[in-house]
Formats: sequence, C-alpha cells, structure tokens
Amino acid sequence: MTLDGAADLILRGGRVATMDSRRSFAAAVAVRDGRIVAVGSDEQIGGWIGPRSRIVELQGRSVTPGFGDAHVHPVSAGVGRLRCDLTSLHGLDAYLAKIATYAAAHSDEAWIRGDGWSMSDFPGGIPHRDDLDRVVPDRPVYLESRDGHTVWVNSMALALAGVTAETPDPDDGRIERDADGRPGGALQEGAAGVVERILPADTPEELVAGLRLAQAELHSLGITTWQDAIVTPDREEIAYTTLAGRGELTGRVVAALWWDRARGADQIEELVARRGRTAIGRYAPTSVKLMQDGVLENGTGGLIDPYFDDDGRPTQNRGLSMIDPEALKGYVTRLDALGFQPHFHAIGDRAVREALDAVAAARQANGTTDTRPHIAHIQVIHPDDIGRFGELGVIANAQPYWACHEAQMDELTIPRLGPERTTWQYPFASLLAAGATLAMGSDWAVSTADPLLEMEVAVDRVADYHRGERPPFLPEQRLDLIEALAAFTNGTARVNHLEQEVGSIEVGKAADLVVLDRDLFDRAAGPIGEARVIATFIDGVSVHEAPALEV
Ligand SMILES: [Zn+2]
Repeated sequence: MTLDGAADLILRGGRVATMDSRRSFAAAVAVRDGRIVAVGSDEQIGGWIGPRSRIVELQGRSVTPGFGDAHVHPVSAGVGRLRCDLTSLHGLDAYLAKIATYAAAHSDEAWIRGDGWSMSDFPGGIPHRDDLDRVVPDRPVYLESRDGHTVWVNSMALALAGVTAETPDPDDGRIERDADGRPGGALQEGAAGVVERILPADTPEELVAGLRLAQAELHSLGITTWQDAIVTPDREEIAYTTLAGRGELTGRVVAALWWDRARGADQIEELVARRGRTAIGRYAPTSVKLMQDGVLENGTGGLIDPYFDDDGRPTQNRGLSMIDPEALKGYVTRLDALGFQPHFHAIGDRAVREALDAVAAARQANGTTDTRPHIAHIQVIHPDDIGRFGELGVIANAQPYWACHEAQMDELTIPRLGPERTTWQYPFASLLAAGATLAMGSDWAVSTADPLLEMEVAVDRVADYHRGERPPFLPEQRLDLIEALAAFTNGTARVNHLEQEVGSIEVGKAADLVVLDRDLFDRAAGPIGEARVIATFIDGVSVHEAPALEV
C-alpha cells in the first residue's frame, strides 16, 4: 500500500476484458489495497499513479479477471504428482517403462501408487494385471486411470486384498475378469474399494504437500478460485484446514463435501457440523457432492435407454444410479433447506434428469433458495431437459476439454451411444440459448487444468492435439470466446457465491487479475490454448509471475 493515496499497481496499455455485464473492454486497471479502484483508458487511470506505484506496461497484451475452476480435485492431483505420474504418457510401453523406473527409484515404498493412465490405450478400455506383473512382480501396484473411474492393479495387490474368482462384484462397480473368472486387474468404479481398503492412508504431510503443489500450479494457469469437487474428512479437509490455518491458502475455495452413498440422511448432521467447524479464511465448505452415475466409457454412466454393443444392438445395460433417485429428492431437499449447495456428478441423460428432478423437488418444498445447485459434466442431456436448467436455476457445470473428437469419444463413447444420443453431447450453445448459466472447469487431474486449453475446445470443439486434423465435434454447439471466458469468470464466481467479490474487473471488486502473453482476442495471434499466463494477482498481490511480465 502506498501512503500517498495512489495505486499500488497499475496495468496499462493493454486489452482488458472486464467481463462486466456489458462485456466491455478497457486499456488499464488501477489497484489499491487489494481492490480495483479504476478501470478505463490509460488517461483515465493516470491520476492514480504515484511515486511508489508499480506500473506494468502491457504492450497490447490481454488482462482478464482471475479464472475460476468449477470442478477440480487439486489435492489428489497434487499428491499424484508426487507419485508415479503417468498423465503425460501414452501407450502401454511408455506406462510400463515409467512404472519400472519409478519402482526402482522408490525401493522404500511398500506400494507403487500413481495415476494418469488412459483407457484409450487399452483394448476395450481395460488394462490387465499381467502387464504390471512383468515390471513389478514383488510389490503391490495400484494405479488410477486418468478419469479416476478405473483402477489397474497387479497380482500382488489382488492377493494381498484377498480378491479371487469367488469375490463378488459390489453393487456400485465391476471387477473385470478373465474367461475363467479370475480378476483381470481392472476394477471399475466402486469395485476399486476391494483393494483400496488395504492401501496405506496418505499422510497429512503428503496431503498438505500435494495441495501446496496444486495451488501453485493452478495459480500459474491463472486460476484464483475453485470448487473442490470431493472433500472428505480424512483427506482434502486435512489439507485445506492446515493450509488455511497457516494463512497459506491463497486461492478462494468452495469445498463440495462428499456425500457417502453407502449412507443416508443420517450423515447430514455431520455435514452441518463440518461446515461450522472447518470454515477457515478462504476455505468455505458450503457445497455437497452427490455422485449420481459413473462414466460412459465403462458403461456406468446412467442412460435413459440402453447402451449399444459393438454391433450397434441395444444391450441390457442402462448404467448406474449411484443414489436411489427417489431418495435423492429427499436428500437434496434437506440439504437445500439447510443452505448447502448441491453439486451433482451426472454424465448420462438419466443421471442428469435425476439430478434435475431432485432440484425440482427441492424447489417445490423450499421455494427458490439461493443455494445455486449445479450439475457437473453434463455429457449427454436429453433435449427435453435442456430448458430445465434455466427454469430451475441449475448451473450447468461443464468440462469443455472433453467436447471433441478424441480416442475415448470416437472409440468408446460414440459406438455405445449410437447416432442420435451422440448429438446430445456437451450442448453448451443450446444451454446458453435456453437461459442456463454456464460455469466451467477442468476436473483436473482427469484432464488438463489449463483454462485456456479448455476455452479453445469450448470455442473450436477440436482437441488442441488434433488442431487442423479433425473436424469440430457438433460445431453447432461452439461458443464465442467471450462466452467461454464468461463461463470461467462470471460463471465460476457465481457457482462459488463470489460474484460480489470477483469474476469481473470492476471498481470495488477484489483485484484478482490475469495477464496473458498476447491479445487473447486476436485470433490471428494463434490458437487460444497457446496463450500463456504471465502473471496472476489475487487481491492485487502477485501469486505467479513470469519474467516476461516486465519485458
Ligand atoms: Zn470430478
């Protein structure tokens, strides 16, 4: 803070996307005591310059509000980075090489743990224990898939957990098996629990280290606020309350407390107690995560009509309803009445409908509250349900990075959905046109945490790694860049009840700002996803800064 009434920080000579209600642009911003005090032309903010003001010359580069991420798993992503991290690799050989190297370098670890393998690298999406046994025969291996819905284990892990041909599938998952019934080493959804229950717990030190690493990474990508999509008392909650208690939590975080689907309404009292007990600083545990289905790639996403088999014939499988839909109505009504925000996971059209029906029941019982329910993922939405988002005030929480042609989509999803439902996927433009509020996020570490890459796919519907090679996926659902940016700023602020504070660059709001290395709105400057964040400010304080900022 300066003593002379001048600004602490001036950004000028740029292209400032204010994201105010008129979506206006400006050239300069002045910040004092962490708040935005002026937005306008270079001349208009000139009066705020004092001898101790820091002046950043933008030279035509863009400034946006700090980005939000409406659905992300930073603690597990950060912990994953500390372990056997397969995220940047492709193909069985590359995975096995990395796993072998990691095992050799960590001979003291009783378990080899990690994540980040992709289903698209395996026939039918299913890996096998034999491959792991070849590189790690003598220690248990437990590797989560990139989307977190399947676990790949070796024979030692199955043996230690006592999983055999006789072990039944749990209700909420499937143990993939060889022809003779023996477990093959892939555990789908809730079946992961048969081995997970004997895993050594992450230590508090590992969880805190993971969150610290993740927070730095999110800030480096311009993210200043997020909603953690799964917070449990023995994992994420420890990390957040520790970091927040030490004053080290710089991000503004809403926590979605995990709804234990093995239990019922009896857990609500505990959720209320945790909300009261653990809110510290920037950590607000005010949301509840209700996971209603699985994913389409492994046939656990909840569909109204059955999946198709590889020959295009309907199967018996309609996927899972993780929570009984009638019970869900009651839970959501109670949670809404208590001021909790319902945060649903829903991928298939039936799961989306069950979530909407639950909110409708809550609205009927409680009237329209301000809890702002949101449904994350919304991969397949029945056309009859598109308008209900706006009508019910349900925020559409989209992960746009998935809305493109890529291996999982083309090989695992489209054949199983069939031609009609394929066109119902990720209908972002239709949702906006029907009056829905869009908020976007990454689901990191399922996929990249980089909002600029995600915005590129929302705008182009082509994966960044297939630029110029593949056609856009359902091009009628493309968004304008400003609409995509709004979903990562206005929309994420709204979903986190922070729109009075952040989400746009306006006088009086907190100075959460992102400086990019170029004019984002000049499409001739290259793909959106190639833009880089060169500075991130929270309350006017730099939380990430590249040397390029001062060039
Ligand atoms: Zn998630």
